[in-house]
Amino acid sequence: MKMNNAMTKSVREIDASDKMADLRDRFHFPEPKNGFEPIYFTGNSLGLMPKKVREYVDEELEDWARLAVEGHLHARHPWLPYHEFLTEPMARIVGAKPIETVMMNSLTVNLHLLMVSFFKPQGERRKLVIEKGAFPSDQYAVESQLRCHGLDPRECLVVLTPRKDESTLRTEDVVATIDREGESLALVMLGGVNYYTGQAFDMKTITEAGHKTGATVGFDLAHAAGNIELKMHDWDVDFAVWCSYKYLNGGPGAVGGAFVHERHARSFDLDRLAGWWGHDKETRFLMGPQFKPLAGAEGWQLSNPPILQMAALRASLEIFDEAGMPALIEKSRKLTGYLESLIDNIGDERIEIVTPREPAERGCQLSIRVRNAGRSLHERLVARGVYADWREPDVIRVAPVPLYNSFQDAFRFAQILRECLA
Ligand SMILES: *Cc1c(COP(=O)(O)O)cnc(C)c1O
Repeated sequence: MKMNNAMTKSVREIDASDKMADLRDRFHFPEPKNGFEPIYFTGNSLGLMPKKVREYVDEELEDWARLAVEGHLHARHPWLPYHEFLTEPMARIVGAKPIETVMMNSLTVNLHLLMVSFFKPQGERRKLVIEKGAFPSDQYAVESQLRCHGLDPRECLVVLTPRKDESTLRTEDVVATIDREGESLALVMLGGVNYYTGQAFDMKTITEAGHKTGATVGFDLAHAAGNIELKMHDWDVDFAVWCSYKYLNGGPGAVGGAFVHERHARSFDLDRLAGWWGHDKETRFLMGPQFKPLAGAEGWQLSNPPILQMAALRASLEIFDEAGMPALIEKSRKLTGYLESLIDNIGDERIEIVTPREPAERGCQLSIRVRNAGRSLHERLVARGVYADWREPDVIRVAPVPLYNSFQDAFRFAQILRECLA
C-alpha cells in the first residue's frame, strides 16, 4: 500500500514540531529487517541502548585494567560509592527522596527482600492482596512468601478481578475489596502499571485505602518507572521495587531499584535479610560481627554492586534528567493518543484496545486485542520490521516510548497493522 502523501506530510510536521524528537539520535536502533526500518515498540520489554553506554562502560573497563583493586577508590567514578551516582536521578523518576531510593540486585530479589520487612502477618491479619493477571514472578513471589509464613495462598491471597466483561480493574472495586477485607489484610501489593493490560493503578487512592485498614502497601513499578508520573513519597507508599531494563534502558539484566518510605528509614528493628553492603558505611570495613544497617533504603543492600551494569544505567538516567519526566509524559500522552486514534480509524471490528482510554489510567503502552487473529498476525507484523510483543491468547502489546519513538513510527505501525489485517 502506498503511503498517503498528505498524511505522511502532516505526520512529518508533527515530528518536526516535537521538541523531544532529537533524543531519538541518542539511541541505537536494531538493524532493518527484510529491508524494513524497525518500528521499535518493545521498550516496555527491553529499552534501547543509549549510544553513550559504550563510553561509560569502557571507562570502567579501562579503570579496571589500569587500577585493578584501587579502582574502588581511584576510578574516575569510584566503585565504592558507585550506586550513589544513580540515586538522585532515580529518585526524581519515581518521586522519592534520595534516602528512600537505592539501586541494587534485581526486581524479584528486591520484592522478596522488602516483603521480608513489610509483609508481617500476625494473628487474624495475614492476607495479601494482588491483582489478577499480575506478572508471574510477582505471583510466585507472594505465594512463596505466604508459604514461608506457613500460610495457604488459597486462603490468604486475595485476587482483585475485573468485573464480568471488563478487562481492567475499577479503583472503586479495588478500594471496596480492601475495605471489605479490613483488619484481615497485612499487605496490598500491586503492579503500578499492569504489564498485560497497560492499566495504571490509582496508587495514591489504593495506598490510602490500604493504610486505613492498617495494612502496608507496596507497588511493583516494573512498567511504571520511567513511564508514568510517580510520587512514591507523597503518596505515602511503604515500599516499591522496579527493574531498569524496560523503560529505563539499563540493558539486559540491568540492576533493580527499591524504594522504602522515609518513615521507615530508621526502623532498625524491622526484620530484614542483611548483607555487608547494607551495613553502616563508616564502619563497614572494620568488618565487625554486628550488623548495623544504614538508614534508609540503602540499609536493604546485600552485596557490592555490579559496576558495569550501573555504568550503562548512568548513561540512560542522564538522558532522563536532561529531558525531565514532565516533558516526557506530555509527549507520551500525545504519541499514545495519536497511535490510539490511528488504530481506531482502522475500523476493524476484531480490534479492541484493552488499555484504558483515559490518559491518566495508562502510560505509553497500548494492549491491542485482535479477536481470532492468532499468532500469525504477529508474525506478519514482525516480518515488516515491527517490534511488538504477542501475549496469549490474542493480545499485541505496543509501547511507543517518548524518548525514542516518533509520530511517524506510530503512523507506519498503523498502516502495517491495517495491511496485515486485510
Ligand atoms: C518485568 C517484570 C518482572 C521481571 O522480574 P525480574 O526479577 O527483573 O526478572 C517482574 N515483575 C513485573 C511486574 C515485571 O513487569
